[in-house]
Formats: sequence, structure tokens, C-alpha cells
Amino acid sequence: MPTNQKDAATAVERVRGAFSRGLTKPYEWRRDQLVALRSLLLDNQELLERALVRDLGKHPTESQATEIGIVLTELDHTLRHLKRWLRPRRVRVPLVLAPASARTVYEPLGTVLIIGPWNYPVQLILAPLIGALAAGNAVVLKPSELAPATSEVLAALVPTYLDDRAVAVVEGDASTARDLLAQSFDHIFFTGSTAVGKIVAKAASENLTPVTLELGGKSPAYIDNSVDLEAAARRLIWGKLLNAGQTCVAPDYVLTTPRTADALIPHLRAAIAEFYGGDPSLSGDFGRIVSTRHAGRLRDLLDGHDPVIGGRVDATERYVEPTVIDDVDPSSAIMTEEIFGPILPIVHVADAAEAIRFIADRDKPLSLYVFSDHADVRRRFVRDTSSGALAFGLPAAHLSVPDLPFGGVGASGMGAYHGELSFTTFSHAKAVLSKKLAPDTMGVVYPPFTSGKSAI
Ligand code: NAD
Repeated sequence: MPTNQKDAATAVERVRGAFSRGLTKPYEWRRDQLVALRSLLLDNQELLERALVRDLGKHPTESQATEIGIVLTELDHTLRHLKRWLRPRRVRVPLVLAPASARTVYEPLGTVLIIGPWNYPVQLILAPLIGALAAGNAVVLKPSELAPATSEVLAALVPTYLDDRAVAVVEGDASTARDLLAQSFDHIFFTGSTAVGKIVAKAASENLTPVTLELGGKSPAYIDNSVDLEAAARRLIWGKLLNAGQTCVAPDYVLTTPRTADALIPHLRAAIAEFYGGDPSLSGDFGRIVSTRHAGRLRDLLDGHDPVIGGRVDATERYVEPTVIDDVDPSSAIMTEEIFGPILPIVHVADAAEAIRFIADRDKPLSLYVFSDHADVRRRFVRDTSSGALAFGLPAAHLSVPDLPFGGVGASGMGAYHGELSFTTFSHAKAVLSKKLAPDTMGVVYPPFTSGKSAI
């Protein structure tokens, strides 16, 4: 396992060499790598599922839906469309340049670094990898050290299935990430916290390396009493408690009126019991917090609050009970940092207008969820709020739509991917103009600038 700057440099040098030799450019190489990645996933589903159980207590069915399945969908979509995406795209030329032709040609960026987080340690390393390979790049992957079982499995499988001349896995912690960031890359794709995103952007600026930053933050949910609260509660609880709340697009908190909160809370309680039984600690379907440190952080966030549902934390077992807190003070710690756990605060607002102001006064979220049957309320949220994604009636699922951009805005990130956007994110769109020397129609722009000549 590379742990020092020299090892990181060796891995980067190796894959950069493959890119320089042109190994990664042919369509056939890209397709073969994507097909091999598909085999990696299909042949090793149980191995990956077991690693995810060890790291996060993630139920295999959840791993299929939110990790392996999402990557397979992206892979199939990419394999289906890659030939078309690779075609140069003709654009019109202004009359004054005619006859001439112009086209956009997508070329690989070169050697790219993908740094992943621990919460979806398979999906968030392999989904960007699909885009990087499709675009013909050499790739260095740095999985998260906080999901060590998954990191180990990926480090063993990737060189077995993919071309290890051009794809490297470098395992390690923040110091390894720093060693890698000291190298020169043609693109850095980072998924993780906003705080580390800033460190990555700073390091990248040294070499003017472009970055995609897929960051976190607090994703709000607004709900009013025009909707079926029982159905909405199930959707909210599903999105919140996936992966025990450790999901970047989980609804972080709820904005609603005091009356709707009163009506909603029994439905939230019922949804938790329906999904995970009377004691979720006994349910194999409910995950665990990634580390005792993070479980302790969540316990601290509950300090001074009186939950209306749940509230039990067993940090040594990495267990945090599904918890709902009503009427939370917006200035409390739980409302100022990303929760990233199974705790749902409810903040009271008078109406949709106040909810919109509340959101606009804070960092732009990665996702925003609205549950309202009022068309004008939905229109106002589209028009008056800014977020990476806005979803009506269903949290988190937008990221499984390959043709929707997935990414943040402002503090929740920059750049986006999935589907064709993954391909363009890892490509340079090169402008190519061709004009024959004869006939020379450019006489009109050549000096001397006598009367009757026009500028282009
Ligand atoms: P993190 O920022 O702590 O770590 C992410 C990666 O950065 C890891 O590989 C880690 O080794 C590396 N790293 C940590 N400290 C570093 C440093 N000082 N210098 C360089 N690299 C460093 O994030 P995390 O705790 O793994 O993940 C949780 C966060 O990620 C949450 O904020 C969540 O919202 C966000 N997230 C965002 C998305 C998204 O798609 N936008 C998806 C998942 C998670």
C-alpha cells in the first residue's frame, strides 16, 4: 500500500506514461475497460456486499440498489451511447468564413485523480471512473480509508480486471491524498466534505488543475399539509435512513409549520416502525455509523435536545437510533453543521415564503426536497431557490437518472456528472476549424483596410 510521496508519485508516473503512449485513446480500449468494470461488479457482488457490511453494516439489498446497481446502470448507459458521444459535433460557421467547416472534438484530459468518500465507497469511486475511462483518461483512484474493507477489495480487484498500466488504486488516508495532490494531474474529481474540498481546490490551484468538487452540506425538505402526510413521511424516512443517514443527498432537516409538524410526527414514527421494527438496533436493514468517532459526534449534536422519536446512541456499537427532534432552534449546532446521521430536526416556519427565505439565507444545498400539491408553491421553489438538485415528492432518487446532472452549486460543489456529463467532465471540448486555402475568400479582412472592407 503506497504510503509516501514516492509511492504516490510512482503510481502517477506509471499511468501517465500509458496515457502519453496513447494507450487509453482508442474507442476499443475504453469499451473494453468499461466491459471489464462490468465483469468486476458482476463477478464480485458478494465480495463487495460483504465489505459494505463490514464498513457500514449496509444491507446487501441496499448495496445492490445504491452502490452496485447505480454503477451498473451508469455503465450500461455509457456503453450504449459512448460511440455517439465520441463523434465530433459539427457546428455552423458564420457566412463570412464560408466555405469552411467547424466541429467540436472531445479529447481526453490526460491523467486524472479521483478521491472518494466512505459513505458510498463503491459508487462514488466507480461512477466517476466510468466517465474518466469513457473519455479516454489514465486514472488514479484514492478510496476512503474510513471504509477500509471496501478500499481493500477495490485495490485487489481493479488491477485484476482493468488495465493496470493506465488505472491505479492508491490506498491510504489524508496524508496519502496530500501526497497525491502534490503531483500534477489534468483533472481532479473529489467527493467529500466542503472543508476538504477547499484543501483540494487550493492544492489544485498550484498547477492550475481543473477540479470537480462533489461536496456536502445540509439538504432541506419542505412539506405542507396539502400532501398525503403518511406517504410523504415514508418517503422522507426512506431517504433519511438509507445508509443510516450517511448520504450526501439525504434530507438533512424538515421545514414546516407547527401544525403540519404535529400531524407529520406520528406518521414519521409509524414509517420507522414499519421499515425497521420497534427496535431498529435489531434490524439487519438499518446500517451503522462509520466510526465510533462519528457516532460520538452525533451524540454530541443531540445534546440539549429532547427528541420526540428515538434519541438512543451507543457509540461503541456505532449505533444511532432513528431520531426526530421537533421545533429545533435554527442557531443550534445540529442546524449549523451537516448531520450525516439518522437524526431529523424539524424547524418551524410560517409558510412556504419563510421556508424559501430560510434556505436562501444559507449555503446553497446539494439537494432540496419539496412536498406540496400546490402548483404555485412548487413554482416558487423552482424560481426562488438555488440547489444542486430540486426534487418534488421523492428524496435522493434523482441521482439514479443518468441524464440528470448530479452535482452541487456554491458551497455544495462545482461541476456535475452522470451520463453524458461524466464523459464531458473528463474531456476537453476542442474547437476544430477547417478552411481550404483555395479559394481564398479572406481577402475582405486582409489589410490594407481600404473602404468597402468589412471586419468579421
Ligand atoms: P472527507 O472530506 O473527510 O474525505 C473524503 C476524501 O478526502 C477521503 O478519501 C479522505 O482520505 C480525503 N481527505 C481527508 N482529509 C484530507 C486532507 N486534509 N487532504 C486531502 N485529502 C483528504 O469526506 P468523508 O467524511 O469521507 O465524506 C463525507 C462528506 O462527503 C459529507 O460532507 C458528504 O456530504 C460528502 N459527500 C458528498 C457527495 C456528493 O456527491 N456531493 C457524496 C458523498 C459524500
